[in-house]
Amino acid sequence: MGDRVPTNPEAFDVLRHDRTRQYLRDIPNFQLYQSAEVLVVVHPDVAGTFAGQLLTFLTVNLLVRWCRNVKIQSPDASLAAELQRQGSTTLLNRMAEEAKSADPWTDLFSEPEKPYVIHVGGACPGARDPDLIVGSSGWAALASRHDNGVIKPDRSKNPCGPALAACIACAEALKFAVGLPDELRARDVAISLFDYSTDGLIVRPEPPAVARIGNALMVGAGSVGSNLAYLLSTLQLDGNLSIVDHDIVNVHNLDRSALFGVQHLGRNKAEIAAEWLHDTLPAQSFPVSYNEYVRTVSREPNQIDLVFPLANEHQVRWAIANAIPPLSIHGTTRPDWGANLGRHIPLREPCLGCRFGVEQEPVLACSTGDISSSDGPAESSDAALPFLSMAAATFALAEMLKTNMAGYPFNRAFVDVDFKGPMTTLAHHDRAYRAGCACEAVDEDIYRRFNGETRFSAYSIPVRPQPGAKGALSTSPGQGQH
Ligand SMILES: [Zn+2]
Repeated sequence: MGDRVPTNPEAFDVLRHDRTRQYLRDIPNFQLYQSAEVLVVVHPDVAGTFAGQLLTFLTVNLLVRWCRNVKIQSPDASLAAELQRQGSTTLLNRMAEEAKSADPWTDLFSEPEKPYVIHVGGACPGARDPDLIVGSSGWAALASRHDNGVIKPDRSKNPCGPALAACIACAEALKFAVGLPDELRARDVAISLFDYSTDGLIVRPEPPAVARIGNALMVGAGSVGSNLAYLLSTLQLDGNLSIVDHDIVNVHNLDRSALFGVQHLGRNKAEIAAEWLHDTLPAQSFPVSYNEYVRTVSREPNQIDLVFPLANEHQVRWAIANAIPPLSIHGTTRPDWGANLGRHIPLREPCLGCRFGVEQEPVLACSTGDISSSDGPAESSDAALPFLSMAAATFALAEMLKTNMAGYPFNRAFVDVDFKGPMTTLAHHDRAYRAGCACEAVDEDIYRRFNGETRFSAYSIPVRPQPGAKGALSTSPGQGQH
């Protein structure tokens, strides 16, 4: 059985912040976050836009995961059609619903006293002076401590920039709240999820209006998977999604998933994610372990077009690596405020097994902050900060969207964003192959037998037109017939 909703806010916070406290415990006086106050002021020109709305309610959603005193000053507006969920049709309504679901004791609309002030969408005239201004421009997340003239209303319908900007806003407020030194805090940030450039020279190719993902498989609907599901609902998708997770929602999961709320306690994570995506695409949940899923739902060749390996227990990633997977996209978090993108284009790039090897099993839930995987001491299994899993999910979302664009891929297979620093430079590079890994034996013939007819196989093998084949594609697999 899962946790019940505690009957008072103090008991709720003890359970909810368990993993956050594990994560922050090396910072002197980190408990200061519990008395922090954050004010979010929304620029009137963005309250009616898709990008401004997503940035606003996601910022608030992530903030209330750790901060009891989040306040909002925003005009109300009808939500963009893509953002209307579960009966919420206005910005303030969706924001209030999500905040209440994350923390029943939150009160967004009372008067702030001495808050950290975030302006959304540009400097807001007449409001308290900002500590941070956040915005987006298509693929790019933007943040600045002052009105730099760069942050303007974003008219695109690309969810990537706004989602990452919300993570940055949440990270900066937390850095301020726990008293991290000034040199670690952001000054001017411009991160493009199109090519991971940080120079502010933002390229703006539009993402596809409809993203075609074929038969996609999400393994793990925990912190990264549930956040990816949350973001997928903002898109027009063609295809279907199978979601595998055996776990249920506990109170400590509420500190880092924008999707999970108190109404979900005790319920299966995969079921909640599939339910959430009900209006987006056909999504089917499998409330079982990955091994059980493979045993009961047989894995035929060419059955899966795209895999999101987002679980790290029971050697899941090693198991997937050994099953000769198609194109794989994953996001992970690490200790010390990092979020990663990982990608495996079969035959061209190191696989999941190369990256993670055979992983150790977590021993005890109470020690999860200390457990490292074979990726080195930088990889932990469960300690978490509220925005890291969402950032990892946003990287995976951007990568998925780009599979539908001619010229793919546009970035290297590995990206690390360090939210503890000023975010002006990123680690963005290729990974090494691991000697003895499962992928060594996979040559073109073997790959072809397992994945030759999958939607994205043209990224792995030279195109050999095969009339009638599902994967007979030219330059842009995502635009092919379904
Ligand atoms: Zn490998």
